[in-house]
Amino acid sequence: MIDLRSDTLTQPTEQMREAMLHAPVGDDVYGDDPTVNSLEERVASMFGHEAALFTPSGSMANQLAIRELVKPGEELITESFAHIVRAELGAGAALSGITTRTWPATGGLLRWQDPIELARPDSGPYLVSTTAIAIENTHNFGGGTIQPIEEIAQLRSESLKLGMAMHLDGARIWNAHVESGVSFIEYGKHFDTISVCLSKGLGAPVGSLMIADKEKIASARVWRKRFGGGMRQIGILAAAGHFALDNNILQLKDDHVRARSIAHAAHQAASSTVNPNDVDTNIVVIDLAGSHKSAAEVSAELKAAGILASALGPKFLRLVTHLGIDDNDVAKVNAVLPELLDSAFKLQ
Ligand SMILES: *Cc1c(COP(=O)(O)O)cnc(C)c1O
Repeated sequence: MIDLRSDTLTQPTEQMREAMLHAPVGDDVYGDDPTVNSLEERVASMFGHEAALFTPSGSMANQLAIRELVKPGEELITESFAHIVRAELGAGAALSGITTRTWPATGGLLRWQDPIELARPDSGPYLVSTTAIAIENTHNFGGGTIQPIEEIAQLRSESLKLGMAMHLDGARIWNAHVESGVSFIEYGKHFDTISVCLSKGLGAPVGSLMIADKEKIASARVWRKRFGGGMRQIGILAAAGHFALDNNILQLKDDHVRARSIAHAAHQAASSTVNPNDVDTNIVVIDLAGSHKSAAEVSAELKAAGILASALGPKFLRLVTHLGIDDNDVAKVNAVLPELLDSAFKLQ
């Protein structure tokens, strides 16, 4: 099976497993795991921040960050299809008592005016006050799109004036960086808190980090334990993270080239499904609007041909390239997918 459902499906390689095997470890709840400590220091300084906290998932890193920025009853705003509001099971409300509102954006792409128009900071005793804005980069359901750094910078200066904090859901910030050339420090400086994932395109089996100043990380460490995320000899997991940062960042570019190749093939068969120029990184969103097939039907046909893709909406099919996908796999996808799309759009 050629598995394009997600870049979370990567398998740790032999070399990564070797690195995990020999990692020095200690009890991380006691702060005694040297491999975790060095990973936290490394990732914090990569983004120009003081401290970081290793978490079992990106959702936990996001949720710990949000609760540091937004008090119960206050509001976080984000884009309508952001992972934080669409794919974390209402955790902000369920775990931290916060409310959210969203603005819509084509491809999830940020225009700094959108959140500023929606935001209601310091709303007094009658209306909900907005205290933080979350930006997703790259934007998953937007099709792996890269947020323009100019929009981020402008939003930062406008939101600072209004006293609102900013969180970066940087699960795939690595993909944004290799493609845009914008440094991690540059991305990092516009945000109060950041989450990053090691277990997506970077290929580690587990692990995310929340990044912030020392004070917020100390508080998030308490909440991580409270959420049941205090872990013990997890240096073996942090070692996979170190290995991923050492070896797997630059190869993300290959994933991007492969995704674009799939998008080209799809576009040639049915031009309305995807614009290859919109495929910035490793995610191809196929829009089946106007066809007589659902995403579930096309996904079932792909499966019969040995290809797995995600049907994330009635007409929304997602294909994601990653470490486990090579040029031969892409050639096979490009031989199968166009034909299926062609038939999905054919007049009956
Ligand atoms: C994957 C992902 C996360 C974290 O997901 P987990 O499954 O909780 O690790 C967060 N944000 C985005 C945009 C993601 O794609």
